[in-house]
Amino acid sequence: MKQEKESSAVQQEQEMADKAKFDTPREKDLSPKEIYDYLKSLPKTDLHCHLDGSMRISTIIDLAKKDNVELPSTNEEKLRKILKVEGNHADLNSLLSMFEITLSVLQTEEALYRVAYELVEDCAEENVSYLEVRYSPILHTKKGLNLVRIMDVVLEGLRAARKKYGTKNGVIVCGIRTISPEISLKLAELAVAYKYHGVLGFDLAGIEDQYPAKDHKEAFYLIRNNCINCTVHAGEAYGPDSIKQALHYLNAHRIGHGTRLKEDGDLLNYVNDHRIPLELCISSNIQVGTVKDYASHPVKFYHNYGLRVTINTDNRLFSGTTVTNELFKAVTECGVELQEAPYLIINGFKSAFFHYKQRVSLLDEALGKMGWKETVLGN
Ligand SMILES: [Zn+2]
Repeated sequence: MKQEKESSAVQQEQEMADKAKFDTPREKDLSPKEIYDYLKSLPKTDLHCHLDGSMRISTIIDLAKKDNVELPSTNEEKLRKILKVEGNHADLNSLLSMFEITLSVLQTEEALYRVAYELVEDCAEENVSYLEVRYSPILHTKKGLNLVRIMDVVLEGLRAARKKYGTKNGVIVCGIRTISPEISLKLAELAVAYKYHGVLGFDLAGIEDQYPAKDHKEAFYLIRNNCINCTVHAGEAYGPDSIKQALHYLNAHRIGHGTRLKEDGDLLNYVNDHRIPLELCISSNIQVGTVKDYASHPVKFYHNYGLRVTINTDNRLFSGTTVTNELFKAVTECGVELQEAPYLIINGFKSAFFHYKQRVSLLDEALGKMGWKETVLGN
């Protein structure tokens, strides 16, 4: 009896402490719709979002008509099915064939401007107040556009939408593992040129297996030598060794996915000790078969262990998702408590590829909107 009293006192104390920080509703008091609406209402970040995987279906059809591009279907519903990873265990290759379809209509200035603008618009609609959008300019040169124009029009689209909606944003330029280290270097040079003009970072994307990150170290050396932030897709389709290469050969500041980090305890602690953010994209991980289902996803374990976990979309169209939806899944299917959702969001703001002082002001603004009553700065 005494023990029960004590534990209820501890619980009460904890609840009061929570209340002092946030007016977070209790999950048990809410319907799924209320949970969703609450998460949607919070300011959020999306740090891992591919431009060519996050378009509106109606825009793809419209652009294809305008540019005479043949699509597998011009029926919105049918095309959505073709471009949605259904269920689990689609392999990475089928995802890559979806990119081929979206890229086929992303070869003009008008198209690139429009999708960049619309992506910010979609983010604003769900209260994402900070977006880092990534893409590889080299994939948009098939109809003769040059890399500089490709950078310029995407940045113009982002800037125009930022002006209208207030969503802060910037670009992460992607090298691609399967293309070549030489092209990665060329793209790194492009990122260096645009460092003060909308580029926030550099990334390495594409198939991990048999395409090791270390092959691209020259590009990343140039990036780091210019004090530009970088992230690397790693530990998704391939194991912890891929994360080690990303960290120790490319000196990544964040890890894209890192789903398989839990397989290596030393590395897990290294990532935790150095506060290296993980860009988790839960639905995407399940859809490509890295994780069996939502219940098996390591997001809860990683967060409880203290890792700097951030929640992101990866490909809004292919995964049929939003940041709100990813947080909703984390809470309703992965076992993360609703009270923890604001902390995952804070991690996103803390991990932004902005300068420290800009991050602090972004975070302060977000905390104000979330009803936070204490200052939470530092690491
Ligand atoms: Zn990705």
